[in-house]
Amino acid sequence: MNDRDTTIAELKEAVHQLCLRKGWGVEGVQDPQHIAMAMTVEMSELLEHFQWLNPPEVRALMEGRDPERVALIAEEFADVMMYGLQLTRTLGIDVTQQVLRKIDIVDHRPPKNYDPKR
Ligand SMILES: [Mg+2]
Repeated sequence: MNDRDTTIAELKEAVHQLCLRKGWGVEGVQDPQHIAMAMTVEMSELLEHFQWLNPPEVRALMEGRDPERVALIAEEFADVMMYGLQLTRTLGIDVTQQVLRKIDIVDHRPPKNYDPKR
């Protein structure tokens, strides 16, 4: 299974089945408030892998020269994503519809003029 042959619905179900196997939540459904808070913790864990990196170290990540760190980042990203999938499943949010809707909103938003001198 990979991004090309797996739907978001299948990922939501896989995470739900994990919750059921682990006995998390009520019938595999956890409190969305708790999920949102846990997502933030996992996002912080992801950010830790970028903390204090200098530009050459960041370039090394992007150019595939630090696969060990990328693997750690991928694992934390998976934690964030799994909570996101749980959250959207619990609240009945269609990820595809919402991402496409948001792309449309951003696409039609006037550009923000960033002035570094301000
Ligand atoms: Mg984690």
